[in-house]
Amino acid sequence: MTTNTPILIIGAGFAGLGMAIQLKRTGREDFVLIERANDVGGTWRDNHYPGIACDVPSHLYSYSYLPNPDWTRVFSPGGEIQSYIRTCAEDEGILPHIHFNTDMLESRWDAEANEWVVETSNGTYRAKILITGTGHLADGHMPKIDGLDSFKGEVFHSADWDHSVDLNGKRIGVIGSGASAIQIIPEMQKRASEMVVFQRSAPYMVPRWDREYTAGERRMCRRDPSVIEDMRSEIFWAGEFNFAQRRNIPRFLEEAKTLAVSHRETHIKDPELLKKLTPDYEIGCKRLLISNTYYPAIAAENTTLEASALARVDGTKAIGASGEAYELDVLIFATGFEAVRPPFAARIFGAEGISLDAHWDKGMQAYDSIAVHGYPNLFIINGPNTGLGHNSVVYIIEAQVDYILGALDHIEAQNVSVIEVKPEAEEAYMDKIDVMSQGTVWLAGGCKSWYVDERSGRLTLIWPDFAHSFRDENGSFHPAGYTTQSLTAAE
Ligand code: NAP
Repeated sequence: MTTNTPILIIGAGFAGLGMAIQLKRTGREDFVLIERANDVGGTWRDNHYPGIACDVPSHLYSYSYLPNPDWTRVFSPGGEIQSYIRTCAEDEGILPHIHFNTDMLESRWDAEANEWVVETSNGTYRAKILITGTGHLADGHMPKIDGLDSFKGEVFHSADWDHSVDLNGKRIGVIGSGASAIQIIPEMQKRASEMVVFQRSAPYMVPRWDREYTAGERRMCRRDPSVIEDMRSEIFWAGEFNFAQRRNIPRFLEEAKTLAVSHRETHIKDPELLKKLTPDYEIGCKRLLISNTYYPAIAAENTTLEASALARVDGTKAIGASGEAYELDVLIFATGFEAVRPPFAARIFGAEGISLDAHWDKGMQAYDSIAVHGYPNLFIINGPNTGLGHNSVVYIIEAQVDYILGALDHIEAQNVSVIEVKPEAEEAYMDKIDVMSQGTVWLAGGCKSWYVDERSGRLTLIWPDFAHSFRDENGSFHPAGYTTQSLTAAE
């Protein structure tokens, strides 16, 4: 069976749904959204580990046009975010457009028909415009660990939590010390008889200024929408202020480091442990983490901090790169996502029949962080150079959605059948990104992170500027960067 649609969106997370909502709000009813799972929510649907919460305040980490007066806390738990996303999809009438359990297997540009042919687990789609909203955090990364198959206990990834495993009184190994791990570890410490944390690199951590919103505050938010507006603005500009750290400006780095050091020293009294928990790179080079419960969990009696990577497994033993071995019942991999080489890219084949993954063999890149030469009529939301270390990615998504709406207006007004970014425009944009990246803490901070593609040394994940500059630069469509063919003539 083939479904024909002018616009096909892939993924029902914040990005794909945000696109769908705005298509509908601007009067475009004729679109389909395919989603590989059976619910909306994307990474918030998939990540339901104990302790999950957002580390961006919820009033900002939500659609600007769908404020939620009922957030219960400054940093809401994951389940609340998932409910919010579901409510948005229902209230905005998006559910009838979504084809669930429909995994995009392969998308090929058909140059004769000027459309994308999309094979899915649920039939074929043909679409004039293809929009991906698959995000950076869609597919969990499992490191290759020698002997892991021989492990006698339970093994799972943070993004695929197995709630059927009884963790109480177990000997639990947690692998990783990133944003997911530091939320999981305090919860595991409460349940485990013994816990071992395999820490390849120590993260920087600052206090989490979390609290419940009172009933009165929530009522105020309901009665007067300007209250939420003001909160959003305050949170946003506080985040923007922190961008100065990422630009490697010494005064701001020192301020952040002082806060991190005092937080660490408040909770960790053992000098050996303190040494292990002290990062050996510049603050901000990896994601700056926020937690009040991580250090106490690490300092607890039943926790061992193994300051080396998990190197191999042998039966019931998990062995660190240091050679230290631990008898464990459960291994939890909080080892991140396939963000540098997103799996969707290996499934998209452009005008030359080359996969986007192969095309990106030196790392991801896109004009205006959204379009790639050789891949006509394709827009990528939350793709190259759209990640943030200091602010809400929902803000970036909204800017990209506005860009695409502008492109669609142009396509409709000019009767365009093919729109493709000019290679020189893409290169010029990437040159600009490279210049902006130089000297930032992500490149100069002395750490190894997934923000940088090892193959080129380029910063491919992060937008290396203020979030508001992203909107200034990429929040509206730039026709000059594209060539177009109309149904009657080539321009
Ligand atoms: P991540 O930041 O990529 O962290 C993965 C961790 O696994 C790192 O600490 C890494 O060490 C470690 N690792 C990998 N292989 C290892 C091995 N063999 N032995 C020991 N450690 C190993 O992934 P994440 O924590 O899932 O976070 C990913 C992103 O998700 C975050 O940056 C954030 O954007 C998002 N997130 C957000 C929230 C939120 O509250 N909003 C919560 C969770 C996640 P190295 O540091 O040495 O590479």
